[in-house]
Amino acid sequence: MRAHNPSHSNTSIIPIKAFMDNYIWLINNSGKVAIVDPGDAKPVIDYLKSNALYPKAILITHKHSDHIGGVETIKAAYPEVIIYGPKTSSFDFEYIALSEGDTLSIPDIGIKFDVLETPGHTDDHIVYYNEESLFCGDTLFACGCGRLFEGTAEQMYESLQKLKKLDLKTKVYCAHEYTLENIRFAMSLDKNNPLLTRRFNEDKLKSNTLPSTIATELATNPFLLAENSEKFKEIRLKKDAF
Ligand SMILES: [Zn+2]
Repeated sequence: MRAHNPSHSNTSIIPIKAFMDNYIWLINNSGKVAIVDPGDAKPVIDYLKSNALYPKAILITHKHSDHIGGVETIKAAYPEVIIYGPKTSSFDFEYIALSEGDTLSIPDIGIKFDVLETPGHTDDHIVYYNEESLFCGDTLFACGCGRLFEGTAEQMYESLQKLKKLDLKTKVYCAHEYTLENIRFAMSLDKNNPLLTRRFNEDKLKSNTLPSTIATELATNPFLLAENSEKFKEIRLKKDAF
């Protein structure tokens, strides 16, 4: 069942750049925000202060430090923040543990998300989605997917099958800006795909290529186009060596 947002609309999604190529996403409704994967606290707190925003929630997709490194500092600065994360992560800090099928509601911001488990990049990885947006951490990238650090190719393939079923218009908010490199790789596999050429020409003009959409990914992402897990594995190995 898809989480339904009764009051859409005042919600805006803001990217904060961190490290080399991370995005920390803020979901803002009238000055109250949820923060997705704050790997670094400073750029987030600076942005919150200079824009008079108040964080109510932190949503974590997985345990890598470039996604959680800022959590405790933000919590210390804003003790009312509620932290959500994967049940299997076992973080030291206090958080609400989520697994597949859970729905998370943040009434202060007027949003709800459903949770899917997407092991592959890490064993603990989850994603948050509703009818408008998908926050997919390092599972799905624009024209790519996360590296397999802990899971198998079969697990990641199955995880991506779940994301393929989301509404075509769902906006895809990934945690890294890897798009151009990913499109270059996709073009090396499929030299004459006009959709890839067009995507490359459009995206190369942007400093931020996100969000993507499920429709765009279904049409151009080689990892979603792979027809089975064997083919997926082959493409993943080629990308690792690209
Ligand atoms: Zn990661």
